[in-house]
Amino acid sequence: MEKTTRVCVIGGGVVGVSVLYHLTKLGWSDVMLLERSELTSGSTWHAAGGFHTLNGDTNMAALQGYTIRLYRELEELTGMSCGLHHVGGVTLADTPERFDMLKAERAKHRFMGLETEILSSEEIARVAPVTNIDGILGGLYDPLDGHLDPSGTTHAYAKAARMGGATIQTHTKVLETNPRPDGTWDVVTDKGTIHAEHIVNAAGLWAREVGAMAGLALPLHPMEHQYLVTDEIPEIYERDAEHPHVMDPAGESYLRQEGRGLCIGFYEQTCRPWAVDGTPWDFGHELLADDFDKIEDSIAFAYNRFPVLERAGVKSVIHGPFTFAPDGNPLVGPVPGLRNYWSACGVMAGFSQGGGVGLTLAQWMVEGQAERDVTAMDVARFGTWATPGYTLTKVIENYQTRFSVSYPNEELPAARPWVTSPMHDIWEAQGAVFGQQYGLEVVNYFALPGEPRYETPSFRRSNAFKATAAEVAAVRGAVGINELQNFGKYRVTGPNARAWLDHVMAGRIPKHGRLSLTPMLNAAGRIEGDFTVSCISEAEFILTASYGAQAVHTRWFERHSRDGVQVENISNTRTGFTIAGPRARDVLAKVTRADVSHAAFKFLDVRQILIGMAQCVVQRVSYTGDLGYEIYCDAHEARHLYQVLSVAGEEYGMRPFGMRAMMSLRLDRFFGAWLSEFSPDYTCAQTGLERFIQWSKGDFIGRAAAEAERTQPPERVLAAFIVEALDADVQGYEPIWLDGEVVGFCTSGGYSHHAQVSVAQGFVPRDRATDGLEVEIEILGEMRPARLVTTPLLDPDRLKMTS
Ligand SMILES: Cc1cc2nc3c(=O)[nH]c(=O)nc-3n(C[C@H](O)[C@H](O)[C@H](O)COP(=O)(O)OP(=O)(O)OC[C@H]3O[C@@H](n4cnc5c(N)ncnc54)[C@H](O)[C@@H]3O)c2cc1C
Repeated sequence: MEKTTRVCVIGGGVVGVSVLYHLTKLGWSDVMLLERSELTSGSTWHAAGGFHTLNGDTNMAALQGYTIRLYRELEELTGMSCGLHHVGGVTLADTPERFDMLKAERAKHRFMGLETEILSSEEIARVAPVTNIDGILGGLYDPLDGHLDPSGTTHAYAKAARMGGATIQTHTKVLETNPRPDGTWDVVTDKGTIHAEHIVNAAGLWAREVGAMAGLALPLHPMEHQYLVTDEIPEIYERDAEHPHVMDPAGESYLRQEGRGLCIGFYEQTCRPWAVDGTPWDFGHELLADDFDKIEDSIAFAYNRFPVLERAGVKSVIHGPFTFAPDGNPLVGPVPGLRNYWSACGVMAGFSQGGGVGLTLAQWMVEGQAERDVTAMDVARFGTWATPGYTLTKVIENYQTRFSVSYPNEELPAARPWVTSPMHDIWEAQGAVFGQQYGLEVVNYFALPGEPRYETPSFRRSNAFKATAAEVAAVRGAVGINELQNFGKYRVTGPNARAWLDHVMAGRIPKHGRLSLTPMLNAAGRIEGDFTVSCISEAEFILTASYGAQAVHTRWFERHSRDGVQVENISNTRTGFTIAGPRARDVLAKVTRADVSHAAFKFLDVRQILIGMAQCVVQRVSYTGDLGYEIYCDAHEARHLYQVLSVAGEEYGMRPFGMRAMMSLRLDRFFGAWLSEFSPDYTCAQTGLERFIQWSKGDFIGRAAAEAERTQPPERVLAAFIVEALDADVQGYEPIWLDGEVVGFCTSGGYSHHAQVSVAQGFVPRDRATDGLEVEIEILGEMRPARLVTTPLLDPDRLKMTS
């Protein structure tokens, strides 16, 4: 056995071999894989082998498309068969909401180059004749759907990897992973120790155990899952062509042809987590005992939807475990807090996603970053709050809602409330309706008196509409208050703090007492963060950015760490409030002896001010686009600060507002949002953030790429639109049509309660992005006229904000 390697991949399931193959494909040949038994000895061997592109996250769907297209390439490269059956698949809709979801997916697929199609129920009966179409409104057909041979595919990946120089060592169990001071790893196995520069945890069912060897509690958990294979069915074997897959979300089932019969699997409500206290090491090629009781209701439903099943005997039952992360997407990427330790686990659909996972991880390792925004599967989208207790509860919910409609405004209930801010009960007493962000309960809006304390999930405007309108009116008319707990916050200190910030951030680092807005770029010039930097003193700066990106940003800071600089994540220990609106200054003036007149406290100024008994940092800036202040204090002082501010705000009618109002307010000035307008998919020149780059300073990460865009401007740019919407606003990724062609897509949108119009933002070709351009935006399958606007809907001269 080799004693040293550049990369040691632990686990020879479909994911491990895909990672190995992609590493060799990108040029790293000194790589090895260790498997404790034979290849496929975890979930992989008993998978049903189905694959599909449908995924609520657009980048995940694109990676699933990549995975499926890869199989032919693998077959050609290795001469081995993956046992491919490209039979197509249809997802059924039996309610208007489900149909809305499928239409929204179809619309997204237009600019992703996926050739899906909306079918009527009659067309479904023709394409998938075993389906009883009673009550079916229509469906989404995807010609790429199909299935394969799990074992053949795993071995094809393995052969391709070997052809690229990789070694695969089976019957070698990893016992320990021990870091060396230089960031490399000793991988201790039952056959000896290997010294590896990097390790990849692709241990599937045992990923928790392998993670624990490095002190990790990875947020994933196995669930039991069952599918049945029937005896021969004449309606199937007498057909000329293979029957396509049918996904029936109402019955939580997927069905496909298997030989001369059918195969059907269920995501039953009465599901069971497996191996709660740890996956046994002696589990391998056995199955779990059949359990028909668990799927009794699902089978009864399936007999009605696919009547041929009732007449067919069951030939075999496959009941096995596979792992899920709390949101059902994989856990991929460098693990925060560890050097050279990579995750490729939590993959619940290895045959739809394995190729994309392997490609992404290999790009990250070899090239330093993935080619697209992979937030949806980044292991760092979870923090330490995703404990095993949280994970188990969420994984059960995820399994149960696998086939549910996912609405853009939906807040799933499991494992909540979990992390709360110091203000939680105060907001609750005022009628708050909460959402969850990175584990934290955040106020979405305050229900009006007599209204339910629950926002109805919908693709259209919800019951939060009126309450949100009232909160927006309070801000624009007088003053509103909103909690700042859900900001990611970092304290950067030390003698080299300014120099380090100048290197990591593309924008200007402000002088003492000022703040600035700055993008943070990667080497390819794409946006890794949009930050506010405040200079408290030459040796102390405070950064704020997205709360949900804390682990991602902390990992970035660690990667680029330097002597003489400390970065501390203070997101939960510092909190505070935004006060915004024309009377915001009056409220502030009442609670402090400091001079807060415009002459003394200008736009983008930062002041340390005593408010009541709390020593606060106050910044004159507001995401609402109005006159506003962000007031920060220590978390244990927040209730006192709120008390002082709310008493002062009473005479101006100050009222609290939540995130729904905030997201409407920001639209009035076309402000972008993290992961909508600003994300690692986009660059500064595309999104208008270029104006925040400080070209006059020295080198910074991403400078060369950003400069290249100055000489070769991007083909697409971000623009704002007023949309003639009906009862549904843009959410994101809707196609933008011009002259009968899709020319762009939306990044986000919503209703401006202030201007009383529907607003969208999105990318269009640069040469067409002129004021007044008339386009159409496809919202839930309907073409809605829209007009490009360049003048903000509020305060075009920025007088409110700046004077
Ligand atoms: C009943 C059922 C049906 C399914 N149907 C489908 C489907 O139709 N389509 C689909 O896409 N997915 C399906 N899946 C899910 C699919 O099986 C998984 O997504 C996939 O197999 C995960 O692969 P993996 O490589 O991550 O993990 P695993 O297959 O679990 O592989 C992990 C490997 O790591 C090895 N290992 C663990 N610890 C060590 C160690 N310490 N040292 C060395 N080696 C170690 C194990 O022996 C194992 O071989 C199904 C799952 C089940 C249970």
